[in-house]
Amino acid sequence: MAVLIDGKALAKKIREQLKTECDELKTNKIIPKLAVIMVGDNPASKVYVRNKSRACEEIGIEYEEYLLNENIEQKELIDLIEKLNEDKSVNGILLQSPIPGHLNINQAFKAISYRKDVDGFTPSSVGKLSIGEDTFISCTPYGVIKMFEEYNIDLTGKDVVIVGRSNIVGKPLIQCCLNKNATVTVCHSKTKNLSEHTKRADILITAIGRPKFVTKDMVKEGAVVIDVGINRTEEGKLVGDVDFENVEKIASYITPVPGGVGPMTIAMLMNNVIKATKEQHNINTKF
Ligand code: NAP
Repeated sequence: MAVLIDGKALAKKIREQLKTECDELKTNKIIPKLAVIMVGDNPASKVYVRNKSRACEEIGIEYEEYLLNENIEQKELIDLIEKLNEDKSVNGILLQSPIPGHLNINQAFKAISYRKDVDGFTPSSVGKLSIGEDTFISCTPYGVIKMFEEYNIDLTGKDVVIVGRSNIVGKPLIQCCLNKNATVTVCHSKTKNLSEHTKRADILITAIGRPKFVTKDMVKEGAVVIDVGINRTEEGKLVGDVDFENVEKIASYITPVPGGVGPMTIAMLMNNVIKATKEQHNINTKF
């Protein structure tokens, strides 16, 4: 039976450390602030944003939300981002995706100052990650790496197979795992014979968005299985991309859904807000 990687407990530990750091900043009259922009009325986004605001409140980070009408034009969105870039009281800017299809999200990400890019989505952050420079790392991949570190899972020389190549999860994960000296394979919807790849993996990371897609016969005995997927079944239950009940019988480590990668994503966002605040005040960062 696999060891459960408890993302909820690790995220709590990280949030507690961050609260201490935030309290220290406040003794120096520095109050970190995160600005979140949401465009339109997306129910899933509302849940994500609420969780982020709760985490901010717990740690002592100020939280400001900008709800924009779904019909706004690109210029209005960019104008708001530029205003927040200039605002010295704002340390981190997050544009919640998805945004309506008539808007260009990449152009919007590009407008966010690299100093406030707490999601790690700007070309500057992505480029720095790829050349191994210190930067804001996209929160979900960063959370996965923190899990490896906490559980002493060494990636050196390991065959890591990532299923999913999105800009926010799969692609930054490639770089994060390379930086840890893994041999990385990335699969996607056009990959032929997917299970031949997944069965080779010492470490299998799934970020697909399909409930229980990865079955036991697709996983090597003793593999570490990290399930990034969050899917709702017809019965309203949250499940991952992995058939947890069966795969946990043969994996060495596995993350649950919920309680795995999800809480880590928010903890790493909080981490990035504190990091941004410290950098903007020329204070050394711990992470
Ligand atoms: P996405 O942008 O939709 O990307 C999904 C990826 O999966 C794509 O690269 C796609 O391939 C690939 N894929 C789809 N069907 C496949 C198949 N049958 N075989 C192989 N690959 C397949 O999704 P995302 O934003 O990366 O999110 C992925 C999942 O992670 C979702 O469930 C999302 O809710 C969850 N998520 C969780 C967190 C967290 O904090 N835990 C954070 C972000 C996302 P193509 O590129 O070829 O289309």
